[in-house]
Amino acid sequence: MKRIAVCPGSFDPIHNGHLDIVERCRPLFDGVVVAVLQNEGKAPLFSVEERVAMIEELVAPWDDVRVESFSGLLVHYMDEIGARIVVRGLRAVSDFEYEFQMAMMNRHLGPRVETVFMTPREEFSFLSSRLVKEAFSLGGDIRGLVPDLVLERLDRRINGER
Ligand code: ADP
Repeated sequence: MKRIAVCPGSFDPIHNGHLDIVERCRPLFDGVVVAVLQNEGKAPLFSVEERVAMIEELVAPWDDVRVESFSGLLVHYMDEIGARIVVRGLRAVSDFEYEFQMAMMNRHLGPRVETVFMTPREEFSFLSSRLVKEAFSLGGDIRGLVPDLVLERLDRRINGER
C-alpha cells in the first residue's frame, strides 16, 4: 500500500512555509496530496478553485504531488482517497494547542488516521496566510515569502487591474 501524505489547509493563499512543508514530505512518502478546504464561511480572498489552480501551477514540476479540494470532515475525505497520514506544519509553540486538539479529534473520528507534524525552514516559521494578506494590502514587500505567481494574484485581487 502506498504511503500518501495529505496536507490539508485553507491555503488562502499558499505561501513559502506551506510549500516548504510539501517539499519536505516528498522524500518521506510515496505521494503527497495538498487538500484545499472549501471554507466559504471564512470569506476567503480566493475561491477554492483559484486556490487549487494556483497550487497546481506551483507543484506542476513535482509529479508525486497532486492538489484536490474537499469539504466536510477531513477523516471522511481521507477514507475516500484511501490515505491515512495527515501532515500539519508546526510553526511555533503557539500552534501546538490547536493542532493537538485537531489531531485528537481526528483520531477520535477516524482512528485509522495518524497526524504527523513537521517544522518549516526557520525563515518561514513566522508566516501565515493572514499575515501575508495583511502585510501586502498595507503595501509591505512580501517578495521571498510567497511565490511570484501568488504575489501577482494578490496584486490583481487586492489592487485590481491598473
Ligand atoms: P488552516 O486554515 O487549516 O490553519 P492553513 O492554510 O493556514 O490552514 O495551513 C495549512 C497547513 O500549513 C497547516 O498544517 C499549518 O499549520 C501549516 N502552515 C501554515 N503556515 C505555515 C508555515 N509558515 N510553516 C509551516 N507550516 C505552516
